Amino acid sequence: MKKWTNGYIYESNSSFYIFAKKHYCPNCKEKLKKVKASAEFRGDSPEAEKYNYYNRYGKNVKVRLTWLELECPVCGCHMNEEEMKKAEGIWEEPPPPLTKKERKRQNFLEFLVFFLLATIAVILIGYLKSR
Ligand SMILES: [Zn+2]
Repeated sequence: MKKWTNGYIYESNSSFYIFAKKHYCPNCKEKLKKVKASAEFRGDSPEAEKYNYYNRYGKNVKVRLTWLELECPVCGCHMNEEEMKKAEGIWEEPPPPLTKKERKRQNFLEFLVFFLLATIAVILIGYLKSR
């Protein structure tokens, strides 16, 4: 969900994981409550690159991103999704982003597959017409 206001893009990045089940405090086993967290950054920052804002809106855009984190009502322990997953033992390192070279290679391979399929289709249509 996003909308433009005075050069800002407001976007929420809610994770299904936060809602999917109940989460408990690793210190006092209390049920954690959901709290809102937010960050602001420019279109040319590393954070923006992560979400592909640069390509979508240009580097001069300012982004205000909101998401949910977890907080313990008893001890005040605060956890984001990564920390919670680590505490629950289900965290997986995300794959590193593709380098420019790898992205180029991937684009080329996609083009190649498309080109081959198109060629096969043309040959097939030609063959069927000639019968
Ligand atoms: Zn706690």
